[in-house]
Amino acid sequence: MKVKILIPTPLRRFVDGAKSVEVEAATVEAALAALGRRNADLRKQIFDDAGHLRNFVNVFLGDRNARELGASLAEVPVRDGDVLVLIPAIAGGAPEVKLSREEILRYSRHLIIPEVTIEGQKRLKASKVLCIGAGGLGSPLTLYLAAAGVGRIGVVDFDTVDLTNIQRQILYSTADVGRPKVEAARERLEALNPDIEIVTHSMHLASWNVMDLFGAYDIVADGTDNFPTRYLVNDACVLLGKPNVYASIFRFEGQVSVFDAARGPCYRCMFPEPPPPGLAPSCAEGGVLGVLPGIIGSLQALEVLKLILGVGEPLIGRFVTFDGLDFKFRELSIGKNKECAVCGASPTVTAPVDYEAFCQVRGAESEADLGQATLISVEELHQRRDAGEQFRLLDVREPHERKIVSIPDSIHTPFDELPSRLHEFDSADQFVVYCHKTGRSLDAWRLLRKAGFGNAYVLSGGVDAWAQRIDSTLPRY
Ligand SMILES: [Zn+2]
Repeated sequence: MKVKILIPTPLRRFVDGAKSVEVEAATVEAALAALGRRNADLRKQIFDDAGHLRNFVNVFLGDRNARELGASLAEVPVRDGDVLVLIPAIAGGAPEVKLSREEILRYSRHLIIPEVTIEGQKRLKASKVLCIGAGGLGSPLTLYLAAAGVGRIGVVDFDTVDLTNIQRQILYSTADVGRPKVEAARERLEALNPDIEIVTHSMHLASWNVMDLFGAYDIVADGTDNFPTRYLVNDACVLLGKPNVYASIFRFEGQVSVFDAARGPCYRCMFPEPPPPGLAPSCAEGGVLGVLPGIIGSLQALEVLKLILGVGEPLIGRFVTFDGLDFKFRELSIGKNKECAVCGASPTVTAPVDYEAFCQVRGAESEADLGQATLISVEELHQRRDAGEQFRLLDVREPHERKIVSIPDSIHTPFDELPSRLHEFDSADQFVVYCHKTGRSLDAWRLLRKAGFGNAYVLSGGVDAWAQRIDSTLPRY
């Protein structure tokens, strides 16, 4: 039988750069043996001294793991025209690392699992994982990866710890408020496991730095909360051939998948275009239940560890959603999109792209048509109200937000209800629209303007600025 074996990038140097090799064989084992005979070094990469396929190399027959198709690979027949896909767990051969006595004790509960053993623990020690974001997802993710003994953990974040983070970002303690996240994270992770290396990257990811940064790691775990970074991370991973372990959360819901363009779809295959700014939940001022990132970030850590160990079935081509309120996991099957702009047959994205504008599109565009005159600062509003000027102060937030804090003497119409309730207002009145910060009030302002409200302003910084600068007895959120 003529069988085609697809060769992964790290092994191509053994077969003169060929992407695939054709061999004659009747079983999967015979096909691999035939491949091994072509090059002794390649043989060493995929077989151990006893002639067994190394456990961190996976062989897929079509889309099925060949190891699951028979008791041994010698019992899995191949047919003419079959395609075998060789998938090493991560690039490179067996790691040249040693475990100290103390490490053997520390990881003993790993070493006694047949799927890990001392070989697997060495792979963990030799592996390099980059975590994008040290927030709600990054907290359990980095803690578990550090505890499990991943040898180098990179942490990218530019933020400082805020009191509003502590409700879910369990990497930090209350005493860390005000400190740079990467600094506090490093301290915590090093205290957890002094035998590993924590590399901090206090930076904004951008098209000009992403390729160099990702190049130094085996696996990227994306735990960001914004679309520009998601697309940047995805595209860079595809271009560099790195797996992207993806997770995202919103309120009570989470999503997890593994995007690896060499073995399945990428994020762009599933979401070719980012949603328009108004529909993007990450751009909204949404909340999240504290424990939710703990659940989803732990699943993300699980997938990272599986990829390193080369065990189990990674979430490649599968997209799992979790709804905490219903307690329902749903698994969706996702396929590679031939038209995908970055991993498709004729890609149009061939270098990382910055999508800075995404979440600011609304703000930037609107402020441009708004002009300066329509924004009013909290100080100016305060003074002019004190001087007796009449304003209709319109709060467009959700009712549950208004229960936390509001500006005295304001009226309330949630943004979603505004279009159907405009008739309640007199367009001759002078309006100041506010929300939590500024986002939704810009949209509300636009709506008012279109409906002929000539005297409408946006309160710059919203109720948050008011609580910070005018009345510090008011709570902030
Ligand atoms: Zn794709």
